Amino acid sequence: MLFLNQETDFADIYKSCVLCPRACRVDRTVTREGKAKGFCGETDRVRVAHVGPHFGEEPPITGIRGSGTVFFSGCSLKCKFCQNHQISLGGVGETLDFHRLVEKIRQMIINYGVHNLNFVSPDHFIPHTTGVASHLKKEHPGLPILYNFSGYQSVRVLKNLEKYADIYLPDFKYSDTALARRLSRCTDYPEKAIDAISEMVRQKGFLDGPVSENAPATQGVLVRHLILPGAVENSINALTTLFMEFGADLPISLMSQYHPVMHHEDPELNRTITDQEFLEVHDHATQLGFKHMFVQFPENYQDCSRDRAVFLPDFKNRQPFG
Ligand code: SF4
Repeated sequence: MLFLNQETDFADIYKSCVLCPRACRVDRTVTREGKAKGFCGETDRVRVAHVGPHFGEEPPITGIRGSGTVFFSGCSLKCKFCQNHQISLGGVGETLDFHRLVEKIRQMIINYGVHNLNFVSPDHFIPHTTGVASHLKKEHPGLPILYNFSGYQSVRVLKNLEKYADIYLPDFKYSDTALARRLSRCTDYPEKAIDAISEMVRQKGFLDGPVSENAPATQGVLVRHLILPGAVENSINALTTLFMEFGADLPISLMSQYHPVMHHEDPELNRTITDQEFLEVHDHATQLGFKHMFVQFPENYQDCSRDRAVFLPDFKNRQPFG
């Protein structure tokens, strides 16, 4: 279906959008009363909140010179707790002409020598990412292209990405369908995410090793899971599911950085996770026997006396990560 021999003509793809499992089938080349018509809230004009090296990814992704991130505005999932809420829910970002986007990314690669090109939450602009990848692969053939995904992807779209992507960094957020519905309005998240991750693993295998900042990854899949406050069972079942589906060799990243970014009706979401919650989930992952686990321990980030947690970006600043 999708892509892309003419690298700047994306109109057909956006005219009946099925770029994510929400499959809105709306025409994103036109607006309704000035607003985009699909769930993601974005038209066919790519909007970007930040292009720059990022040092907060896992060591084999960050390396020593950083991961070359491109943060797109808008999101097809729109989780209520999103740690990047300014761009996923709040509209922060600027519209860029395709060639200006390529140029910005090119400058980042040249100026910083980043280890990869990291598209963050790119679902709703995937045609633009493949266009960018086509351009830049010719100039930087050894630069891995990384898709940093929510886990809520369509297998059909992923099949079209196979020749562009080198690394997939998907989340597996929910095993609990009720939680998925409440926080991200997608009851089908667990099944869609397992199907999507299976396709990613089929294409690229597990993240290659040795995995350290001295030998940045070049290919493969690393799955992330963010522990949510008051949702230990969701995390435990998510890890069990991943283990049952993919085995002990699947590289996983256990994240504890959750920080409330707005007031929630659910009081649990108005706090960070407790040490006890973290330990329960971490112990479970250890007992399952995952062999390649990156762990963000709570003491690395939890300073609630600050206005913003250490890992929480501010996309209204030129340097969102400080
Ligand atoms: S990318 Fe946006 S418009 Fe397209 S299917 Fe997903 S939510 Fe709907």
